[in-house]
Amino acid sequence: MHMTQPALDLVIAALERIREKSDRAPCASRTALARLQAAPAALVQHPALRTAHATPADAVESAVPSGDAEARYKADLLTAVRERVGACTKCAHLACSRTQTVFGVGNPDADLMFIGEAPGADEDQQGEPFVGRAGQLLTRILKAMNFAREDVYIANILKCRPDMPSGSFGNRPPTPIEMQTCRPYLVEQIDIIQPSVLVALGAVAVEGLLGTRAAMRELRGRWHTYNSIPLMITYHPAYLLRNQAPSEKRKVWEDMLQVLERLEQPISERQRNYFL
Ligand code: SF4
Repeated sequence: MHMTQPALDLVIAALERIREKSDRAPCASRTALARLQAAPAALVQHPALRTAHATPADAVESAVPSGDAEARYKADLLTAVRERVGACTKCAHLACSRTQTVFGVGNPDADLMFIGEAPGADEDQQGEPFVGRAGQLLTRILKAMNFAREDVYIANILKCRPDMPSGSFGNRPPTPIEMQTCRPYLVEQIDIIQPSVLVALGAVAVEGLLGTRAAMRELRGRWHTYNSIPLMITYHPAYLLRNQAPSEKRKVWEDMLQVLERLEQPISERQRNYFL
């Protein structure tokens, strides 16, 4: 660890303060540790850090910038991960077959983050998640929630399209090994964005994120957690395209109403009565 003594002092002081205020031992993600390692440079370079700090702990706490600066800071961190993903060949078969990697899209400082399973043919061509028919339905769901795609962040467990036998059409779900191999990139994305609420779309996304296999009817519609972040599980929009029953669409919308409530967003009467 290349940490200078002043930076180490700042970290220790901040951790001691956290320990005094909380009965839980402090823990740090890989991304947080990377930020701390970069602290001496950041203290000099970041505009939000050019103020005098009362104590070393205050200095570390204010090392997390706010507003636009926060979004820019997170965007820079995401760009670094995106570059590693773009060059990734950990799954040799997928690295050969992909048109491009599909990293993620949206607000790097989003309160709400959606997680799907893997790029399909459309996403592989365009390099953006959820742009096919299922993606268009997700965009409509977001609109009904009063969000634009740019307001939230959207990513998949897998960053490469699962390969298909030559000459065959359609998409296949990722294998458990493929998801396990790619998952660390998603973990980094979540660590950087630190959304207030996560939404996992479909059973495969749940398996990739939590390692839990269960029927969607048992998982959806109630709150779970991922690393202390509230996690709502709902059906993948592709399921709603296959099953047009109003009752299924309403279930997804009710899950989204819970998300809006959790985000403390105002909900109109029209939204409450809405059917997708
Ligand atoms: S799926 Fe993920 S881990 Fe596998 S090659 Fe693509 S980016 Fe790398």
